Formats: sequence, structure tokens, C-alpha cells
Amino acid sequence: MVRTTPPLKGEAHGKEPSIVPLDSPYRCWAEIDLGALERNIKRIRAALPRGIQYLAVVKADAYGHGMAQTVARLMRSGADMFAVANMGEAAEILEIGSGWPILLLSAILPGEDRYLADYNVIATISTAEEVKRFSQVGKKAGKLIPVHLKIDTGMGRLGVWHEEAQALYETIRNNPHLKLEGIFTHFSSADSDREFTDHQRAIFIETLDKLQNLDRSRLLIHADNSAALESFIPGSSFNAVRVGLLQFGVRPYKRSFLANVKVEPVLSFHSRVGLVRNLPEGTGISYHRTHVLEKDSHLAVITAGYGDGLPLGASNSGKVIVGGQLCPILGRVTMDQTVVDITSLGKVQPGDPVTFIGRQEDAFIDVTDFCRWAGQISWEVFCSITKRVPRIYRTDSAV
Ligand SMILES: *Cc1c(COP(=O)(O)O)cnc(C)c1O
Repeated sequence: MVRTTPPLKGEAHGKEPSIVPLDSPYRCWAEIDLGALERNIKRIRAALPRGIQYLAVVKADAYGHGMAQTVARLMRSGADMFAVANMGEAAEILEIGSGWPILLLSAILPGEDRYLADYNVIATISTAEEVKRFSQVGKKAGKLIPVHLKIDTGMGRLGVWHEEAQALYETIRNNPHLKLEGIFTHFSSADSDREFTDHQRAIFIETLDKLQNLDRSRLLIHADNSAALESFIPGSSFNAVRVGLLQFGVRPYKRSFLANVKVEPVLSFHSRVGLVRNLPEGTGISYHRTHVLEKDSHLAVITAGYGDGLPLGASNSGKVIVGGQLCPILGRVTMDQTVVDITSLGKVQPGDPVTFIGRQEDAFIDVTDFCRWAGQISWEVFCSITKRVPRIYRTDSAV
């Protein structure tokens, strides 16, 4: 298959906010290290058995990292295929480069059906009704619509229930307008319950074993997301993995598989000090006096809030790095501004950088710390960084 992508397309710089004086500093920004992304995917690939297809999951603007830049780098770093949530995301990938198969993970809306043929994306099938719809598209367009059959082994979301898989499998196989290219399942508890994951895996394997006339060599068989890689079984019939979070440098679990594989955080999240103040003991801070100063304090007002993706949940619980030191958030996070205690610090000035996620001198906040304070999960943290926040790309090569 011929694959084409301009070498640097979309990587030159981050999305600029719409109207901003060119030389003005960012008030809140995310730095995306594409070299780290490249090293991550290469290391994950190297740790997997040979011949395993790597489906890079890039839904939701590549987990908030920016579709164009992320996908362009993944195309040049070993991704075999992409997985997205909807047709718009598939179209974005096609704009970046052609030749990479794209799997649509979600249910397709009836109004979207016709794009299956136009974009040549791979549909996920869970029901006989979808077989009918997609086959009409294929018939009308005069081409085979590529599909993956999804089997529900205990996620309770998409997929045909495993006990009914044989019938749907036959229906797809016998349909002249569809081309079955893969079979997959999804784990519900890969980051929390190894036993249940093993149980789902066993059901999936058993279901595959029971399917009659199954030609495994011509199908992609996949189940593992980032967390499930822990229990990936080399040498089994699985020949593909679907990796999202791990390639962005976040481990969804603390346990062992791939523990020897180093992944680095790709994203860091920053803002600035807008104002520095002294306020006396007893002063209420932020809306509803959500914090009351217990002593005379030195405070910094940061130029970011929940309008940027610093969650309300971090009110009175989160920490940020100023001047290389962890400083507590005081009171409620507001839409555009957040107050932090810098009493223990030396000189802090308006304009100084503040870090929410990432490193500053010896201080480091990783996504897991941020999640604990914010009451969020890592996937959600990334998806919560808003459109107002420019993504700035480091385009260094991987080595
Ligand atoms: C999002 C998603 C993935 C990737 O999950 P990570 O935990 O981010 O690796 C894999 N498979 C499906 C079906 C998904 O929806």
C-alpha cells in the first residue's frame, strides 16, 4: 500500500489563538513534545512481539494533543493504522496522509453511512441492522465496505453479545458488499481488575475458536488497550493492539507488563503569574470565601482557570509549581484566574511561568498527581484542556 504524507505537514507550530498580538506571551499553554511521542511508540512497538499491528488510537483530537501534529508524527514513527471515534476525525487523518487504514470505533449514525464509501474507513459492526445499512452503501457505491466485527465479552457497550457472535459473523461473511477485515473486543476493567480482564480475554478466545470457517491469517484480531497490554499473550491469535494513553506517556496502571519500557510524558501544561499580592490573616479567598487565610500571606493570581481546563475539582486541593516549588491552590478555581499561596517563596513576579503538569527545575507534577487533586482520570484531564489553550509543539527528532 502506498502511503504519502508531507514530512513536516502540520508540525511547524501550535494552533494560535484566533486574535492575539503576535509577540504577546501565552497566558496558558500546553507543550507537546513530538520527539517523546515518537520515542514512546517506538519503544512500545519494540516491546511487542514481531508482526503485531499497531493501531494508534487518536480520538478526541488525539487525546487533546492535536490531531494534525500527532498523527503526522505517528505516521512516520511506526503506526500501522489509526482508530477514531467519528467520521470528522477520520477525514482529518485523510487530510494529513493517505494509505493508513482508519477504524471507526463508535457506532455510525445513519446520516454518516454514505461516508463509509467516500472515506474508505473501516466500520465497527455490532448488529444485523448495521450489516444491512452498510451493505446498502457498498452496493450503491459499487465497492466493498471494510468492517471489523466487534464482540461484547463484558463491556456492555458496543459489540454483538459473544453467545450470538456466530450468527452475525456468518451474516457478514455471506454479504457480497462487505469485507470482514477484523474481529475485536474491548475490556471494561483492564486498569483495575486483572481477573476480569483475563475472563474477558478467555471468552474472546473461546468465541473465536468456535467461529466456523475462520481464516485468522486474513483478519486482524485485537483486544488490548494500553492497560490490557499488561496481560497481552504473545503467540496467541491476537495480531494487533489498540494503544491510546500509553503512547502519550501515561501508564494507566502501576503494574508490571512493559514496566521495563520507558515512556515519557508528551504533554505539559503551563500558565503564568498575573499578579502578586500580600493579604492579611482572615481574608476570604475566591468565590464564597472558599478559603480563609490562616496567616498573613503572599499570594499569586494565576492567569488560568477552568476555562482553560484547570478543573474546579482542584479548588483548595491542587498544587502548581512556581519558581521550582510546589504551591497550594487556595479557594475555588475560577473561570480565568486561580489564587495560589507563594508565602514560602522568594521573589515572584508577574509573567513568571507556572506549571500545572510537567517539570520546573527539581519539581515535577505528573498526570497521576494532577488526577488525584482534580478528581479526574488521565484520559479526562487531556480531553479537558480547552480550545483556548494553544498547543505549542516541540518538533525535535526522536533521538
Ligand atoms: C479509547 C479506546 C482505546 C484506547 O484506550 P487507551 O486506554 O487509551 O489505550 C482502545 N479501544 C477502544 C475501543 C477505545 O475506545
